[in-house]
Amino acid sequence: MSDRIVVVGGGLAAGTAVVELRERGFDGEITLVADEAHPPYERPPLSKSVLLGEKEADSAILKETGWYADHAVDLRTGTHVESIDLAGRRVRANGESIPYDRLLLATGARPRALAMADDSGASVGYLRTIDDSVALRARFGEGFRLGVVGGGWIGLEAAAAARPSGAEVTVLESLDLPLLRVLGPEVAGVMAGLHREHGVDLRTGAEITAISRVDDEVHVRLADGSTLVVDHLLVGIGVQPNTEIAEAAGLVVENGIRTDRHLRTSHEDVFAAGDVANADHPVLGRSLRVEHWDTAIQHGKVAAANLMGGEADADALPYFFTDQYDFGMEYVGNAAPGGYDRVVLRGDVEGRVFTAWWLDGAHVVAGMHANDWDAIDDVRRIVGRTVDVDRLADERTPLADV
Ligand SMILES: Cc1cc2nc3c(=O)[nH]c(=O)nc-3n(C[C@H](O)[C@H](O)[C@H](O)COP(=O)(O)OP(=O)(O)OC[C@H]3O[C@@H](n4cnc5c(N)ncnc54)[C@H](O)[C@@H]3O)c2cc1C
Repeated sequence: MSDRIVVVGGGLAAGTAVVELRERGFDGEITLVADEAHPPYERPPLSKSVLLGEKEADSAILKETGWYADHAVDLRTGTHVESIDLAGRRVRANGESIPYDRLLLATGARPRALAMADDSGASVGYLRTIDDSVALRARFGEGFRLGVVGGGWIGLEAAAAARPSGAEVTVLESLDLPLLRVLGPEVAGVMAGLHREHGVDLRTGAEITAISRVDDEVHVRLADGSTLVVDHLLVGIGVQPNTEIAEAAGLVVENGIRTDRHLRTSHEDVFAAGDVANADHPVLGRSLRVEHWDTAIQHGKVAAANLMGGEADADALPYFFTDQYDFGMEYVGNAAPGGYDRVVLRGDVEGRVFTAWWLDGAHVVAGMHANDWDAIDDVRRIVGRTVDVDRLADERTPLADV
């Protein structure tokens, strides 16, 4: 068993791995190097309860600082790892060289930047950290005009958190529907209807040609000749994995740090987990990098087992949830565009209580429920299986019998 484990990154994957190491009885040295000022925390509340003002930002923190001290974890927040020396088994941070026997890279991802917005000098921002969430929440209120670039999860959740405060919200989405690539037209249409019903000005097919600052306003010019005027522009156009230190060290990086099914990178002493890991998935039969809360947890646990010499598989099916207004959904699997040929919907789609199933032939590649919380067990059971498609599509057949 390794004596010294260094974990880089202060997110959920890193935090989970450290907790799991101690719970599994690892009694060697653990150093957790995290460049944010906070100990590891969860991000989903930052666009939901914290942004809604229902919960304090601290509620997102995984373990208080005292836990790390009590469990002999050397927690170094506000510390950025600059480089890794694979041959010498050391990481460099703040001019210090920290030795390891095994290393976990859980450096996560950062928002994809929109240069046009950043260069405008106007009030523009992103939503990734506790500090981003707290700053955005402080501006919400009656008459505040929020523009959102990108109708993805972050943009839609921010819109749903802003509306109850009385803010006016405009979402600019370049495709014909929000979340079109993730959910396909059948379910993406439900999300569009949901937001429009709640008073969001959702503009699809929107192409931004210029962003400028005019006094305290943000002016967003669109290709159709119109100009959107807002007080703040939130950019939510996806994330990119933080792979720089891995790449510079010589690890294989392809859409994230490549790992095998055990989360081991191209170097045997080094593992990667969470948003940054593009891991072989033993059940799906291909490699996959997902940006999901649950994957960060599952990867954190598997990485901990394997840092201790285990051979655990990262085999959990991808799982995702969202809450927007009175709408909640849970999604299992991965229906990449081109990876399915049929969508089966069951239930009351207009009333937004339904299940949806993405099929490649008779193979169920993904499934979800909307506001039908008891269905999650069936979703988990059915995704990944080959089914009788007629029975799945026939609502008289209970899901339990599919
Ligand atoms: C606002 C928001 C809402 C979300 N909501 C949901 C949701 O509802 N459902 C869902 O499934 N997923 C959701 N997600 C996604 C989910 O939060 C991520 O998948 C998860 O945070 C990934 O965890 P991670 O530990 O891999 O990476 P991260 O959370 O990105 O953490 C990585 C950390 O490592 C630090 N770091 C990077 N490089 C270095 C370095 N060189 N040295 C030191 N530290 C470094 C980073 O600063 C960061 O703090 C949401 C994300 C956001 C931003």
